[in-house]
Formats: sequence, structure tokens, C-alpha cells
Amino acid sequence: MKFGGTSMGSAERIRVAAGICAAERRKRPVVAVVSAMSKITDLLLDTLRRAETGDQAGMDSNLSRLQERHVETCRELLPPEKQEAVLAGIHSLISDFQRIANGVLMLGERPPRSVDEAVAIGERLSAMLMASYLESTGVRSVAVSGADIIVTDAVFGNASPLMGPTREKARRDLLPWIEGGVLAVVTGFNGSAADGRPTTLGRGGSDFSASILAAVLDASELWIWTDVDGILTADPRLVPDAAVLGEVTYSEAAELAYNGAKVLHPRTLAPLIEKQIPVWSKNSFALDKPGTRIVSKTDSPGGPRAVTSMASVALISIESESSALSTNQLLARAMDAMARTSVEVLVLTNSSYRQNFCFLVRKDELPVALSALESELSLELAHGYVRPIEVDQNVGLLAIVGEGMRGTPGIAGRVFTAISREHINIIAIAQGSSELTIAVVVHRDGLEKAVRAVHAECRMAERAHRAE
Ligand code: ADP
Ligand code: ASP
Ligand code: MG
Repeated sequence: MKFGGTSMGSAERIRVAAGICAAERRKRPVVAVVSAMSKITDLLLDTLRRAETGDQAGMDSNLSRLQERHVETCRELLPPEKQEAVLAGIHSLISDFQRIANGVLMLGERPPRSVDEAVAIGERLSAMLMASYLESTGVRSVAVSGADIIVTDAVFGNASPLMGPTREKARRDLLPWIEGGVLAVVTGFNGSAADGRPTTLGRGGSDFSASILAAVLDASELWIWTDVDGILTADPRLVPDAAVLGEVTYSEAAELAYNGAKVLHPRTLAPLIEKQIPVWSKNSFALDKPGTRIVSKTDSPGGPRAVTSMASVALISIESESSALSTNQLLARAMDAMARTSVEVLVLTNSSYRQNFCFLVRKDELPVALSALESELSLELAHGYVRPIEVDQNVGLLAIVGEGMRGTPGIAGRVFTAISREHINIIAIAQGSSELTIAVVVHRDGLEKAVRAVHAECRMAERAHRAE
């Protein structure tokens, strides 16, 4: 059972989450994985940024907010006689964070490994609160740090798990709790490198923590509790009439997540596919709703099922100026340069006739992408064999996802017509080789409108309702 930030957002929500775990535990063993309380990770990161720029006042005010939120929650959650020990625990974790923040303040620098160590505090606070509450209601429970179980590489801020060593640790240090009937509440988002240095799995990474643990513990199911009714045909914040999908395949869910559906961390499904562990996405605010089941095969008739979008992206265009340098050569070298960085190429299209190609990256990865390209192509750029690299930051990505879209003729055409009808500029199009996704890059201003237009044109809500 994984509980996201909103599902852990207050004493009331923690009670509900604990209740869900306790009820299920009467039927079968349960491990809980928790996120930090909502907005806490943002607050911790903001505090470190302020520390880096020497903004001591801002840092102190953030620290008070951090303290207040958890102290208040603790007082609301626990009976008075249980509060003292937990309040001491809260103070001690916040002092650890403060120590790191002071280090950042003094150095004027935010080393990624210190950031990872510091932000882990958010999940450690929420796990402690949940485990203490469970104990206070008579459910034997223990808070476990994900850093003691999940072994990762040393890519701070976006680490990848080492499944073998993680399995060993989970079997050695987590399984005995489960077998002993103790409900372990594990902190999501954090792990540690083989040498013990703390790491994190990327923003939203608690979903990934839960799927890693589900895989290494051979779980029968993974339930991801969030604040919407499951996986919807679109982000309900953009498309109010988006409908819940009863079932989606691992591939569909992964495509949706990779193309911006925040409801799942992109890497969540990979560890589960091999063992075919089913996943449920459920609403902790509406326990009667069935949620979405993610499985390897569904009965869905196929065709476009959901649309996602990403706003913070940038399009990089590269064009050869000389026939001595073919588009293929240029493309190979550019992609090679990207491969040496951690930059993810989201969409790529090319024109051999015009000797150019363009690809999409996340805005926060743009500086790394550009410096890698400029150093790879420095000579060609200097001698004018390659035109100056162009960047368009005023774009957005939209992706239409559905198993079996190949079998639905005319989809691409309908999508383009629907977007053009809204007078939105289409900048690039790509159909994934999996034929599961059509990606469209549009002018940023039209992104939300384009999402709504595509959702309506493909009748996604109606199709989802009909499949129910
Ligand atoms: P949690 O804190 O539980 O991990 P997130 O905020 O990370 O929750 O993810 C849930 C949010 O994802 C929803 O509130 C919703 O706005 C957003 N979202 C984006 N696309 C979708 C989609 N296709 N289906 C459901 N939710 C989506
Ligand atoms: N708390 C972390 C974040 O906000 C991880 C998560 O919520 O999944 O990114
Ligand atoms: Mg999330």
C-alpha cells in the first residue's frame, strides 16, 4: 500500500491511511510505503535553495512551518500520553535537517548528495507519525527508512535501484517484520548507494519505492492510494469531464506516466512487469470507488484511451549547413552526446530533405543538453557546418495513448484536425514505435486547449464509461 502526499496530508488523512492498512492486514500481510505530507518536499527543497543564497530569514521561517505542521499533526493524531516521544522524534529529525541546511548556508552551495540526505526527512517524519498512530490503535507497527532497504546507484536526485542487493536487504531486514505480524511503514522516495550515501528516486518517487518493494518481496498486489479515482482519461485539473479507466495495461500506464500523467511516477511499472504483479490506483478520499487496475492484458477494444501533457519542455533543433555532414551523422552524434548525460529525449523527429531534426527535452534538463551538444559539435558549429542550435521553449507536449491504436485508422488525422480547429500551431509529431502513443508538440499557449480538443474528439470519456 503506497500513500501519496495528500493521502498523508493531515492527521485526518493519516488516520484514514492507517485504517486502510489495518483493515487489509486482517486479511493478508501488508507493507505501507509513505510519501512526505503534501507540499513538505517542496518546502524542504525551498529551504535548501534559500540556504544556498544566504537567505537565513527565509530559511528560518520555512523551518518554523515545517515544525508547526508536524507538531500540530502529532498533537491531533495521538493521545496525549503518546505525544512526548513522537514530538522528541520530530525535533530530532528536524534538527538533522537544520544541520544540513546550515551547512549549505555556510558553503553557499547545495551538493546533490546533501540535498538527498536532507529531503529524506520529509518521508521519515510522515512514516514516524503513521507508525506511531498505528501502534496507538493497537496495531503493531514500525517505521522503516527506505534508505536501509533500497540500494541504488549514486545518481543523486534520480537514483536507480540495484534490484539484487535490494532484494537481499528487504528479505533480511523487512521480511522478518512482516512474518512477525508487524506492519512496516517504509519511507518512500529514498534509498542509499552501496556505500551508504543517501539517494532519492526522483520527484514523485514514492510510487517507484513501492513498486521496487512489491517486486523484491514478491507481493501479490500493489495498491497506490492517491487523491483521484484512479487513472483518468486526462488530468482532471485540465479536463473536468475526464473519466476513470477501469483497466489499463502496463504499457499504457507506463506511456501515460512517461508522457506527464503525474498520477504515476514514470518508472513505477518496470519492476512489476516481469512478475506481472497487478497494480491498483485508488482514491484514499473515496474508498468506495473501485479505482483503476493495471494489468498485462485488458479486454479493452483498443484505440485512443487517454491524453496527457507536459508543459515544461523545450524543443532543440539542429540543422546541417553542409552536404559533407549528413543528417544521419549529425543525428547520431547528437544522440550520442545525449546518451552521455542523463537527459531524456522525449520526442524526436527529422527531415532528411531539409537536413534537420529536432527533439524535445525537459526544461530543467535543457542546460545540460545544450552544453553536451555544443561541446560535441563545437568544431562544426565554429566552422559553420552546422547552423547555430535553435531552442524553442514556448512549446508543450501532448500524448495520446492507447493499446491497439494501429488498428484504428485515421486517428492521427482526427487528432490534427481537432487541434488545428482550435487554431493551435502543431510544431512536431511523432508516433512511438510501440504504436501505443502519438506525441504532438504544440505551441505552449495552446497546450491545455489542445488536450481538451483531443479528449473530446476521441470521445475518451464516453469510451471509458462504455467500457465500465
Ligand atoms: P500523490 O501525492 O498521491 O502521489 P500526485 O499528485 O503525484 O499524487 O498524482 C495525482 C495527481 O495526478 C492527480 O491529482 C491529478 O491531478 C494528476 N493527474 C495527471 N494526469 C492524470 C491522469 N491521467 N489520471 C489521474 N490523475 C492524473
Ligand atoms: N515526497 C516526494 C516528492 O514530493 C516523493 C513522493 O511524493 O512521491 O517528490
Ligand atoms: Mg505522486
